[in-house]
Amino acid sequence: MTNIRWGLIGASTIAREWVIGAIRDAGGEVVSVMSSSADRAKAYAAENGIPRAFDSLDALLADSEVDAVYISTTNELHRDQTIAAARAGKHVLAEKPLALTLDDAIAMRDACAAAGVVMATNHHLRNAGTHRAIRQAIKDGLIGRPLAARVFHAVYLPPHLQGWRITNPRAGGGVVLDIAVHDADTLRFDLDDEPVEVAALVQSSGMASEGLEDAVMTTVRFASGLIAQTHDAFTAKFAGTGLEVHGTEGSLIARDCMTQKPIGSVVLRNADGERELEVDRENLYVRALRAFHAAVRGEGQPAATADDGIRSLAFGLAVLEAARTGRTVKLG
Ligand code: NDP
Repeated sequence: MTNIRWGLIGASTIAREWVIGAIRDAGGEVVSVMSSSADRAKAYAAENGIPRAFDSLDALLADSEVDAVYISTTNELHRDQTIAAARAGKHVLAEKPLALTLDDAIAMRDACAAAGVVMATNHHLRNAGTHRAIRQAIKDGLIGRPLAARVFHAVYLPPHLQGWRITNPRAGGGVVLDIAVHDADTLRFDLDDEPVEVAALVQSSGMASEGLEDAVMTTVRFASGLIAQTHDAFTAKFAGTGLEVHGTEGSLIARDCMTQKPIGSVVLRNADGERELEVDRENLYVRALRAFHAAVRGEGQPAATADDGIRSLAFGLAVLEAARTGRTVKLG
């Protein structure tokens, strides 16, 4: 197989802004797009140089020239679309959150495994040079034993995205399933550790409606005993993003690192003073697509697997339960 040929399920913003370009830069081809509206599919295809447009999932999946699908519809649709794609023999890159329940996410993974197709979750942040540098620094022992981590991921939801995320619970709106799941994946990757218990408070400050939260703070215990804090919001215009890990022998202080762009810095602070770590600047999505293409060829794993998506969803659901009940929630 040379060029991997992609069908897009969902005429989405994320595909337009990042993933179509990443597929192409990683050596793949985008051959079709499907929208629930025929007009939108046609317009989207024309704008993005995509040869074929469909308004039905079955039609896109029946195309024998599609090897893989990228699913970036709203969250309640990911499950059925993934299972249908797997049954049609297509490899699947699915957006996060994978689904709205753990059983659904597990059914997606199992359908792909049964069909023998690759399934990946589009957790982009673990592809960032900053996070790879943090993970390596910890593995190299540069901060001793990690004891605590803090994630600053409170951002402002841009006006063009102020739709279903803040108005539609049935589509899986709310900041927890949108952003906190990325924190879980990033911490799991950076620390090579698993969250085991979480407490949370949510806020609905007026941007989100219909009972949805537009900010959340969590406190998390990891299997190693490390404790972490996370802060996610749609409402913080000037906060900036960051991640810190504090260990027995040093601290890693990363800034501008919870973002889609290949930017940001990581500083190591210890008894010798401070030094900035070298950080790779490859586009996060291109790196993910390169790994996906390799996995389709039988070379290694995607950057974030279906299981990674299941784990981050488990975290998000535990955060929502903790916030709803006012209790700490254990993760299995
Ligand atoms: P969008 O709102 O842009 O797209 C989601 C769906 O909304 C589309 O499939 C489309 O339906 C419909 N839609 C989009 N624009 C319009 C419009 N102008 N009029 C009518 N319907 C429209 O969502 P995002 O791209 O922001 O998010 C999609 C998915 O990707 C979500 O699961 C989200 O969590 C995830 N995401 C992941 C990111 C990452 O970096 N990993 C970043 C951003 C989002 P149809 O296809 O039927 O036309």
